[in-house]
Amino acid sequence: MILNDEDIDKAKLAGKIAGKAIIYGRKLIKPGVKVVDVLDQIEDFIHQNNGKIAFPAQISINEFAAHFCPLEDDETIIKSTDMVKLDLGVHIDGIIADNAITIIFKEDNDKYEELNTIKKASEEALKNAIDIIKPGITLGEIGLMIQETIANYDLSPIKNLSGHGLGKYSVHEHPTIPNFNTNDKTELKENQIIAIEPFATNGYGMVFESKNPTLFSFSKNRPVRSTYAREILSEIKKFENLPFTTRWLTKKINPGKVKLGLNELKINGIIHEYPPLIESKRGIVSQTEHTVIVRDKPVITTLIDE
Ligand code: MN
Ligand code: MN
Repeated sequence: MILNDEDIDKAKLAGKIAGKAIIYGRKLIKPGVKVVDVLDQIEDFIHQNNGKIAFPAQISINEFAAHFCPLEDDETIIKSTDMVKLDLGVHIDGIIADNAITIIFKEDNDKYEELNTIKKASEEALKNAIDIIKPGITLGEIGLMIQETIANYDLSPIKNLSGHGLGKYSVHEHPTIPNFNTNDKTELKENQIIAIEPFATNGYGMVFESKNPTLFSFSKNRPVRSTYAREILSEIKKFENLPFTTRWLTKKINPGKVKLGLNELKINGIIHEYPPLIESKRGIVSQTEHTVIVRDKPVITTLIDE
């Protein structure tokens, strides 16, 4: 979307909270900590800072590129050799900030150098892409910059993951900001708000959808039969059409009911699911993301001076 003056203030505030939440999360993420605990703390932090959650905070590790949201009883623990992606979103009255970082550990990690190269590739790709952002730049030019930067590290961008426009209460909307040269001649416009998110990998450069989705969004209203599904649907309506995760529901409703209810809603086309995404050759994946307002001097809403 193109932001008006009032939206710009909200975008900056959302960005400030999202940027702070990323730094808070980076400090929490260490070998030995449980992923689900970190995510609960990050989501609490966002609320305490008067932000609303735009989508469930997620931690995707190693070959998992995105969309891993643990269930309440998930036992995943971070290891010293892991490549950890933290991705989170905040909104103020529906105006969204979306950002992500990659975290690795130096101690007890014989893979540090290899992982650090993959991490740096996505970070530099994002920096170089933001450096060329201005009204009139084409999507293809941004994709080319990301692709070339990552190729300089002898790595591949993930081609079927991309940045995106941000809309009011809409995490993904037109345009798609590619991570490779698509030759798309669509131009960015002044005050357009977008998320840029290069992914770099030592794998093939594509992801596939795995099983057991825990990330969903409301799609469209249709009649539902069971009381389970109706109870869950009324909870889901509170998320204002933004994505939600199973764990948020099981904090209130028994997990067995949630499972049955979500399944019925899915079969009836009422909700859409986003399964975890895995690199197709099980390569290690890094991701770096900022939200940017397009200007001659772009505003990086999620960038925090530390
Ligand atoms: Mn993101
Ligand atoms: Mn994004």
